[in-house]
Amino acid sequence: MNPLIYIVSAPSGSGKSTLLHGLLSTVPRLHFSISYTTRAPRGSEQNGREYFFIARQEFERMRANGEFLEYADVFGNYYGTAKRFLEEARQRSQDLLLDIDVQGAAQIKRKIPEAVSIFVLPPSREELERRLRRRSQAEGALDPQVLQRRLLAAAKEIENWSRYDYLIVNDQLEPAIERLRDIVVAERLQRSGARLSAAEEALIAEARNSLQANMKPQVVPILASFAGAAVPGRT
Ligand code: ADP
Ligand code: 5GP
Repeated sequence: MNPLIYIVSAPSGSGKSTLLHGLLSTVPRLHFSISYTTRAPRGSEQNGREYFFIARQEFERMRANGEFLEYADVFGNYYGTAKRFLEEARQRSQDLLLDIDVQGAAQIKRKIPEAVSIFVLPPSREELERRLRRRSQAEGALDPQVLQRRLLAAAKEIENWSRYDYLIVNDQLEPAIERLRDIVVAERLQRSGARLSAAEEALIAEARNSLQANMKPQVVPILASFAGAAVPGRT
């Protein structure tokens, strides 16, 4: 059977890596695609764990060889998903989990429309700023310009929320991990063709609450908190 592909996107600092870590530690049969990037490692990141850190020339060679399922320029650096991860997932009978940006998500959806896309939103612009600050301070590299650039990028990225199948607001961590887990499990159940128990039907109903179309009331105030934030120079 072909692996199911789960795409997770979020503005930087929303807590996507933290959520995915929680998901991977509780849901079996998920193969996490480690992307290739030309950006430098941050904090305690290790080559081959968070990313494969490669030179621009090497990235361009891989791109020319057709080794990427998708790739994009994000904040001036290249990021790409290697096709081999999809093949590895297939061989291991696992599903594939992609942590990629909105450009990459659109490329995958065009190629593989049945991929499941999930967008993670921070509870507000103010909370996103707090998380970005906290993380950069923990990594010992608080650059106000980088922070501003990321907040501006977040305001732009969030405009793409309605292109995703599901939305998760990462307010309290544990409930957000649970919603993510419900989506992954519900999609598997729905595609399994198996007869479902009442508990499984209930889980699918729970996951449906996170469908993009059902999330508008939660999204509106978040969008409002970002309104005007895309004006350069504004904090
Ligand atoms: P991303 O992968 O989206 O860039 P991270 O997972 O690195 O974001 O999280 C950014 C910061 O926010 C980290 O310091 C992380 O510990 C913190 N964080 C993540 N989720 C939550 C949450 N639900 N509540 C409070 N802080 C969070
Ligand atoms: P960061 O530098 O903060 O780790 O990631 C910046 C952005 O690049 C995030 O939105 C992340 O999801 C995205 N990203 C990471 N890997 C890939 C990839 O392989 N392809 C694409 N298109 N985006 C990626």
